[in-house]
Amino acid sequence: MRRAEAVIDLDAIRDNVARLREHAGDRDLMAVVKADGYGHGIAESARAARDGGADWLGVAFLDEALGLRAGGDTGSILSWLAVPGERYTDAISAAVEVTAYSLGELDEIVAAARQLGARAAVQLKLDSGLGRGGAQPDDWPALVEAAVAAQASGAVEVTGIWSHLACSDEPGHVSIAAQTAQFEAGVGEAVTAGLEPRHLHLANSGGALASPQTWFTMVRPGIAIYGVSPFADGGSPIPLTPAMTLRSRVALVKRVQADSGVSYGHTYVTSRETTLALIPVGYGDGIPRHASGRGPVLLSGRRYVVAGRVCMDQLVVDIGDAPAAAGDAVVLFGRPDEGEPTAHDWAQAADTIGYEIVTRLGSRVPRTYVGGAST
Ligand SMILES: *Cc1c(COP(=O)(O)O)cnc(C)c1O
Repeated sequence: MRRAEAVIDLDAIRDNVARLREHAGDRDLMAVVKADGYGHGIAESARAARDGGADWLGVAFLDEALGLRAGGDTGSILSWLAVPGERYTDAISAAVEVTAYSLGELDEIVAAARQLGARAAVQLKLDSGLGRGGAQPDDWPALVEAAVAAQASGAVEVTGIWSHLACSDEPGHVSIAAQTAQFEAGVGEAVTAGLEPRHLHLANSGGALASPQTWFTMVRPGIAIYGVSPFADGGSPIPLTPAMTLRSRVALVKRVQADSGVSYGHTYVTSRETTLALIPVGYGDGIPRHASGRGPVLLSGRRYVVAGRVCMDQLVVDIGDAPAAAGDAVVLFGRPDEGEPTAHDWAQAADTIGYEIVTRLGSRVPRTYVGGAST
C-alpha cells in the first residue's frame, strides 16, 4: 500500500445515482461531474454515473465536456459556464449542449453554428434568485425573443431552460418556493413566446433530495452522487454511500515526554509521556490546514484528532499508550458504516463543506478505483 491513496468505489457512485433517480420519481437525472468529478476522477465518475442510469452529464466548462467526449462518452452532456471567445464550434461539432445566459453568449453560439452550417443545441439559464449566473428576470424577455429568432433561422434549437437554487441545503427555506415560482414564470414566458423546451431543471443535490417541487423534468445532483450530504447535519432522506476513502500509513511512531511541543507553532503540547504517530499527508495533498487540532484520523480502530498544525506533507496524532507501528493503515475519511470518519466530519473540523474536502484533494494523492468497470 502507498503512503496515501484515495480509493474510489465506483459501485457507490452507480448506486447513489440509481437511488437518486428513483427518489426523484424516475425523472431524468443529470449527474454533475465538473471539477474532476468533485475530485473522484471525471472519466471514471461519468462512467459509473451512466451505469447508474444518468441520462445526462453536467459540467461547468466546455473543456470538461470535450474531455468526456474524448474519453468516449456519447450521451447527452450540458456545459454551462463560458467566457467570450469560447470555442463553440468545438462544442457543436462534439454535440455538447451549451448554455446561454445573455444575448452576447447567444450571439456567439449562433455565429459558431452558422460558421459550421450546423444547428447548436442550447439551453437558456434564468437567474431565478441565486444572484450568480443566468439572465436576470428583467433581461429574460429579450433573451427569449432572441432565442426564438435564432431558432427560426435554423441556427439553434432551444432544448431546455434551467436555473439554480441558492438555499437547497435548507429545505423549506422561503427562497426555494420563490425561486420555483420565478422559474415557472420564466418558462411560461418562453413557451408563450413560442419556445418548446423539453428539459426543465432547477434541483441540485439538496433540491433533488428534499424539495420535490423543484424536480420539473430533470434533477441535477452533484455532491450526492459521490455519497456526501449537501446538508449541514450530514444527513440524507435516502441512503447514500460515500465513494471516496482517503487512506494513508503511519510513517513513524515515537515516544515523547510530557510537555513536548508538537508541529509548527507548538499549538499542541503533550500533557504526559505519550506516543506520537506521524501521518504523511498534509495541505500539499489538500488536507485543510484549518482542521489543525480538530481533523479526525482512524488508526487501529480508534479515532484521534490531529495534534497541532497540519503541515504541507504531514500531520501528527497523539495516540497515548495505544500500540502502533510504522506502516499501520490509517483512514482520514471514508464510510461511517465502517466506523470511519467522513468528509463531512473533516468539513466540520475545517469550518467548510464536504464538497470542498473531496474536491480539493490534491493531485499528489493517487486515485485507486474499485467496483464498476475497474474490476
Ligand atoms: C455544481 C452544480 C450543480 C450540482 O450541485 P450539487 O450541490 O453538488 O448537487 C448543479 N447545477 C449547477 C449549475 C452547478 O453549478
